Amino acid sequence: MNTYDLAIIGGGPAGYAAAELAGKNGLKTVLFEKNNIGGVCLNEGCIPTKTLLHSAKVYQSAVEAAKYGVSCGAVAYDLPKIIARKNKIVRKLAAGICAGMNKAGVETVTGKAIVRTKGEGQKAKEIECNGQIYSAARLLLCTGSEPVIPPIPGLSETGFWTSREALETQEVPESLLVVGGGVIGVEFASFFNTLGSKVTVVEMADEILPDMDRELSALLRNELSKKGIAFHLNAGVVSVNGRQTVIENAGEKSVSEVSNILLSTGRKPVLTGFGLETLQPELFRNGVKVNEYMQTSCPGVYACGDITGFSLLAHTAVREAEVAVGHILGKNEKMSYKAVPAVVYTCPELAGAGKTEDAVRTEKIACTVKQLPMTYSGRFTVENEQANGVCKIIEGEDGTILGVHILGNPASEIITIAGMSIEKGMKAGDLKAVIFPHPAVGEIIRETL
Ligand SMILES: Cc1cc2nc3c(=O)[nH]c(=O)nc-3n(C[C@H](O)[C@H](O)[C@H](O)COP(=O)(O)OP(=O)(O)OC[C@H]3O[C@@H](n4cnc5c(N)ncnc54)[C@H](O)[C@@H]3O)c2cc1C
Repeated sequence: MNTYDLAIIGGGPAGYAAAELAGKNGLKTVLFEKNNIGGVCLNEGCIPTKTLLHSAKVYQSAVEAAKYGVSCGAVAYDLPKIIARKNKIVRKLAAGICAGMNKAGVETVTGKAIVRTKGEGQKAKEIECNGQIYSAARLLLCTGSEPVIPPIPGLSETGFWTSREALETQEVPESLLVVGGGVIGVEFASFFNTLGSKVTVVEMADEILPDMDRELSALLRNELSKKGIAFHLNAGVVSVNGRQTVIENAGEKSVSEVSNILLSTGRKPVLTGFGLETLQPELFRNGVKVNEYMQTSCPGVYACGDITGFSLLAHTAVREAEVAVGHILGKNEKMSYKAVPAVVYTCPELAGAGKTEDAVRTEKIACTVKQLPMTYSGRFTVENEQANGVCKIIEGEDGTILGVHILGNPASEIITIAGMSIEKGMKAGDLKAVIFPHPAVGEIIRETL
């Protein structure tokens, strides 16, 4: 039997980050992946969507080039080439991950892993894969998440896309109904709208992007509406029949014709198909319950990433992996979720870290909310002709930065400044004492304080 210090099930960001770190630190590590290394993030999530959105951004910039005194002539896109470039990038990054794990001495096994350990009494964990048994002192579960498919009558007969199919399409649909106005839905809405689809987003809540700052989500919705995306809030798709979909809003039903439906109604942790029932860890909400060191209730078993059902973001998964491996190595760093950046890669981008204005009000935290238009940043004005945007900062009574929310490009990049400040408990004065390069869009944070 092959014996290891650590066995990891799942080769997404949580699994591969943990494997490389464990290997580098001398732990004999084996990682099982049944599909492709990189998991959802690399193969059908973060990287593919951002590759497509970048192509859309380049196309849009070319269309709008005259605003910047540049003429481009006729501008066109080629979707099969955009998808082919996405596939090339995925292959390149996957090779990099494999090289990193190889260098760290990690053994990777392609195949479906199943936990065979029975009962808490058994110390070593046994995993079966491709008919072989592997034994490890510790086990890390990183099986990720999968889309939630709501039971809408007529949907399965009609057919629909999830993000996976949308990322492989060779044709831009004439019209697209996006069911669910969360991050994934809104990013795809932005992509297909830029390429000329007639896009409608249906969202059950009273605002899109429920986890982001509400005011900025509404502003983003307005920006996207101006570009032609139709939004139905407080609404749901109640049935589908061929091209006809019935949308219900406050008891009123309307019928619209669409050529494609994209379901983006959330994701749920993968808890089946790998023998979790033999371990029976405690669950919390719909994921595996973990403590601040990413330990499950089963001794020697850790869980990281989407399987915990908590943050469902790749960068959280990576940090959780570092905390879990650190704990195995004897470090006692705790996982902190205080400043996990959340980003919507639409054009314009929306990003936030720390508490939202709604959260501080609900929690009755005494605070000051400061905000400035993004046009106060010289660099933003240079690079974003006729664009609007906002930087909002929430400060506690003693000046501690509690939350930062930004609408405007490149919010995804400058939000890191906010994340660092919040995580490190910095006060407005501490950040004001830092010299920012000029001109940089990030200066807006310093200006707003
Ligand atoms: C369209 C889309 C866009 C996204 N965009 C972003 C973004 O911009 N930024 C961001 O931070 N997050 C984004 N996410 C979320 C991000 O992809 C996930 O949070 C991240 O992939 C979670 O990592 P993970 O390691 O927990 O799981 P996953 O990446 O889901 O990996 C789990 C792996 O486990 C494997 N596995 C499962 N069971 C077994 C088994 N029994 N044996 C062997 N292998 C097994 C699976 O095949 C899979 O490869 C996006 C997601 C989607 C769907």
